[in-house]
Amino acid sequence: MEGSDDTVKVAVNIRPLITADLLNGFTNCVTVTPGEPQVQIGSHVFTYDHVYGSSAAPQSCRIFEECVKPLVDALFHGYNATVLAYGQTASGKTYTMGTNYLGETNASGIIPKVMEEIFEKVNKLRDKTEFLIRVTFIEIFKEEVFDLLDPQTHTAKSCPNRVPIQIRETALGGIILAGVSEPEVKSKKEMASFLARGSLNRAAASTHMNSQSSRSHAIFTICIEQKGTASLSQSNAGDDILISKLHLVDLAGSERAKRTGADGLRLKEGIHINKGLLSLGNVINALGDEKKRKEGAFVPYRDSKLTRVLQDSLGGNSKTVMIACISPADSNAEETINTLKYAYRAR
Ligand code: ADP
Ligand code: MG
Repeated sequence: MEGSDDTVKVAVNIRPLITADLLNGFTNCVTVTPGEPQVQIGSHVFTYDHVYGSSAAPQSCRIFEECVKPLVDALFHGYNATVLAYGQTASGKTYTMGTNYLGETNASGIIPKVMEEIFEKVNKLRDKTEFLIRVTFIEIFKEEVFDLLDPQTHTAKSCPNRVPIQIRETALGGIILAGVSEPEVKSKKEMASFLARGSLNRAAASTHMNSQSSRSHAIFTICIEQKGTASLSQSNAGDDILISKLHLVDLAGSERAKRTGADGLRLKEGIHINKGLLSLGNVINALGDEKKRKEGAFVPYRDSKLTRVLQDSLGGNSKTVMIACISPADSNAEETINTLKYAYRAR
């Protein structure tokens, strides 16, 4: 990416103060060092690969161009890639990713732009290459994986009976979600309709489980199979199939679990969520450490469902971008510092 071979890039995205912040009288406590990818809060100073939020240019355009487009390019060259949105609830993860995209034109967010870019490329390459594009959309809640595109659980009523998906590993180290729905899509519109369907399913399930979607990880995955057609080369045409996938991840809120509920139920959930975020941090940290990587150090993928699912798309030959989302409000300062530390560790 951008001439460097870093496996993991980290960007910070600072959302503006929103109406609710202003009504509460909250003020901005985060500043960006001019001309530097550097954030200051109180006496803390952190430097990243990119920082967004201080310029007039629409954030999501710049994030897409600088952080995500290189991953889409890599996807067409056969690499797996992962985009992660990290941060406390209401820090702008869903807004930044565009996970709630319903197909409207001029939508902001990374996912709509990814879809646009993918089909633009497919149309350009169509003469020489055959494409098979599929999507999956899953949710990880309390260390269980659920299929958000399962037609059986599409009605809110049946959500309490959701059956968890099992994770399997192939001999070559690929990750398979047993029995997950993998619909083929032929257009941006069709792809967006599955994203919308899954998002609705997620919302319905969260009502049933008396939880909020902010406590689960949502992973929208685009898988691309490419096959050279006969016109490409007579000798070895049609034999090589390139398979790659791009994970677009809207992580659970990173805020510390509140010790509510006399039965401790809520607390247990908090532990499960933090398990995913904690192991993700450990995995990314292990990958980012050049020396450790060269020595073939142990990367603890198996510690959580989240890192298991992403295993073949984090590290190795794959490209990863973490976007740490923060609120600039002084009321959120403590969680913002936690997020900045987590993201700093991930570089
Ligand atoms: P999260 O998914 O992290 O819980 P959301 O994406 O739902 O947070 O964002 C919280 C609120 O902030 C929403 O009302 C959203 O519209 C608003 N918001 C987030 N990022 C931006 C932005 N860059 N510009 C304007 N509003 C934003
Ligand atoms: Mg959200």
